[in-house]
Amino acid sequence: MGVKFSNNSKLLFTLVALVVGVLVATVASADSDDLEGGVVVGVPDNLGNIYNHSATVAYHYDVEKYVLVEDFDIHIFGTGGVSDWVMLGAHEMAFNVVDSMLDEQDQDEMAGSYILILSEDDPSIPNAAPGLKNAGSYEWMVMAEELVCATAADTLYADVEPKWRAWNTPLHEFGHLVEFRLGLGQDMKDIYDGRIAESLQFAGGMPGEIFAWTTQAWFNDTLERSDGFRSNLQEQDYLASQYFSTIFDEENDWKPSCDGRP
Ligand SMILES: [Zn+2]
Repeated sequence: MGVKFSNNSKLLFTLVALVVGVLVATVASADSDDLEGGVVVGVPDNLGNIYNHSATVAYHYDVEKYVLVEDFDIHIFGTGGVSDWVMLGAHEMAFNVVDSMLDEQDQDEMAGSYILILSEDDPSIPNAAPGLKNAGSYEWMVMAEELVCATAADTLYADVEPKWRAWNTPLHEFGHLVEFRLGLGQDMKDIYDGRIAESLQFAGGMPGEIFAWTTQAWFNDTLERSDGFRSNLQEQDYLASQYFSTIFDEENDWKPSCDGRP
C-alpha cells in the first residue's frame, strides 16, 4: 500500500512538472516571438523606484496592472478598472512608435519612461486642470481608456461636440513623451518659425503641440480630419513631414486598431 502510494505521488509529481514545463514554455514563447503582444501581469514589487514616489503621477493612483515593452524598457501601468485590451493596445502603440525610430540612441532615450492608463472611475490628474486625464511629460504619459476607440466628450471642453477618437489621444500624448525624451523642443520652435517665414496657413499653431499633432498624422490616426494622414503630410505640412522622416522609418505604416474593445 505504502509503495503504491509513493508511486502515485511520483507520477503526480511528474505530471505537475510536465504541466509547469508546458506553461513556462508558453510564456517564454509569448515573450520572445510576439513582441507586439506583451503579457499583462500584476505590478512587480521591484518597480517602486520607477513610479512610487510623490513626484510621479502614478504615485497618486492605485496601480494594479502592468505590462513591459521589453525591447525598449518602457513600463505600462494601469489602475484596477483598466482592461487588458487597452493595456496591450498601449503596448503595441509604444512598441511600434519606438521600433520605427531610425536611430538606436533615440530608442535608448525612451528607457525608463512609463505610461499610466486610467479608467473611467479614476480621478483626474492631481494639481492639473480639472478633468485632465491625458497628458505627456518627460517621465511619463497618462491616458484615459474612456477616450480610446469611443465616442467621447472632452471633459476640458464639455461644449465641444463628442468625437470618435480611436487611438489619437494616446498617440498625441506619447508624442509629447517622445519629444521630451529626445529633447526636440528647439527643433519644433524652428519648424514653427519656418512656418511663419513661409507664410504657411497653420503658422498660428502652438510650437509645443507641433510634434504631438504630427505624431498623430504620421501614425495615421487623426480620424476627425480626412486629410490628417501621413500620405497627406508631405503636401499639407512639409516642414514637419521632412523632419519626421529623419526620426521615423517611413516604411512603418501602423494604423491603430479598435478591434476587440470591451
Ligand atoms: Zn498636446
